[in-house]
Amino acid sequence: MKIYIDTQRNFFNTNATKEISFRLNELKRLEKVLKDNLSSLNKAIYADFKKSAVETHLTELGILFKDISEAKHHLGRWAQKHKVPTNIPNFPASSYIMPEPLGVCLIIGAWNYPYLLTLGPVVAAIAAGNTAIIKPSEIASKTSKLLGKLINENFDPSFLKVIEGGVPETTELLAQEFDKIFFTGSTKVGKIVYQAAAKHMTPVTLELGGKSPAFVTANCNLKMTAKRLIWSKFLNAGQTCIAPDYVMIDAKIEAEFIAYAQKEIESAKYHFDNENYVQIISDQHFERLEKLLDSGDLVFGGKKDKTKRYIQPTLLKNVTFNDKVMQEEIFGPILPVISYTSIDAAIEQVRRLPKPLSCYVFTSSNTQKRKLLNELSFGGGAINDAVMHFSNPNLPFGGVGNSGIGCYHGEAGFKTFSHFKSILDKPTWFELPIKFSPYTKWKKKILKYL
Ligand code: NAD
Repeated sequence: MKIYIDTQRNFFNTNATKEISFRLNELKRLEKVLKDNLSSLNKAIYADFKKSAVETHLTELGILFKDISEAKHHLGRWAQKHKVPTNIPNFPASSYIMPEPLGVCLIIGAWNYPYLLTLGPVVAAIAAGNTAIIKPSEIASKTSKLLGKLINENFDPSFLKVIEGGVPETTELLAQEFDKIFFTGSTKVGKIVYQAAAKHMTPVTLELGGKSPAFVTANCNLKMTAKRLIWSKFLNAGQTCIAPDYVMIDAKIEAEFIAYAQKEIESAKYHFDNENYVQIISDQHFERLEKLLDSGDLVFGGKKDKTKRYIQPTLLKNVTFNDKVMQEEIFGPILPVISYTSIDAAIEQVRRLPKPLSCYVFTSSNTQKRKLLNELSFGGGAINDAVMHFSNPNLPFGGVGNSGIGCYHGEAGFKTFSHFKSILDKPTWFELPIKFSPYTKWKKKILKYL
């Protein structure tokens, strides 16, 4: 492993990646490689998930192409030094902040959106002028293999290199010295990454998970709420880090919401004989999810097919915070609906859990919107929608507390992979004499004033 990092460090030290033209060329190369291999990309996703090309475009490749085009378009501006005012004691001088790439980065991806969550950070790393070692998730094995082939056959390994593997390979990688580690995955493994990075004082971005609540208040547009909530929850069979994990709903509208939610699930045709019904990624995750189905009362769904690793979109009610389904991030097609009679008590219950990656508020009341936004801490979210905030490159994406450290997307991604050098730039034709000793009475007076 060390040889790959040394090779990239030697290349980085040639300063080649600092040229804007180099970064633009490499972004274009990545775009071309992806566009030329769309059919293989769709086939590999189908092999791992049974996911359709349309959904893959909607949730992964479309966003990735947008990321690349944003970076190509704005890179010149992002990479410019940025002037700031100079204070009087430093007169005459100019002051500016200059972005510089961090160096050799390690990017560790998650399996649930394997292209977007692995290559999205790579786009940001390239834009900022770094080199990268990329470790896709071994859990989505076909897409990991394809990413390895496409990157390793089309890029110089001294610039980008995919290393495939699971825990042993990741552990070995984490023992090396990098200039930046960008990790997407669970909070449990995030802690391992953070500790490994600390040994070398390596800066990290940790994109983690958590239980993201959706609050539904009595005065919301219930039909639209059910439509957007059900789509965002059952997309990718619930295997989405920002999927609404559970619904906190005003007891007055619970029954009506469940009826609408059921209709939405039925009209989406999430049937086992639908050839694009997304499967659970592994037997281990299937078995984990099976156990969560026992919580509360089943109101819809609950069917399973172990051989195909299918679980029907499932609605549970009368769930309590002590039930198994509320003890861990669900990451599957199970939606617990928890009713409340007091919004303050509901907020209090959610605040007892670790800070989530997202939170969604479905309401027509500005007072309740403000209250929930003000009183709950979470990475990011949406009002009257769910998941879609991820698709706006102008909104930095990341968690807080247990759901992560740092953020990316658009310019935030460029900043994540950059260091900002603060420079005071002084000419030599003048120097204020007051800072030099001896400190006479008048100098002291002026210094005190300044
Ligand atoms: P994971 O933490 O199990 O695995 C992530 C990566 O870490 C993989 O590449 C894996 O090889 C590696 N890894 C696993 N165990 C390791 C160990 N002991 N030592 C070193 N490396 C190890 O996560 P996952 O199952 O791939 O993804 C699911 C989790 O990721 C969920 O919690 C989800 O919410 C979160 N997630 C977050 C985001 C985000 O953008 N914030 C996106 C997708 C998924």
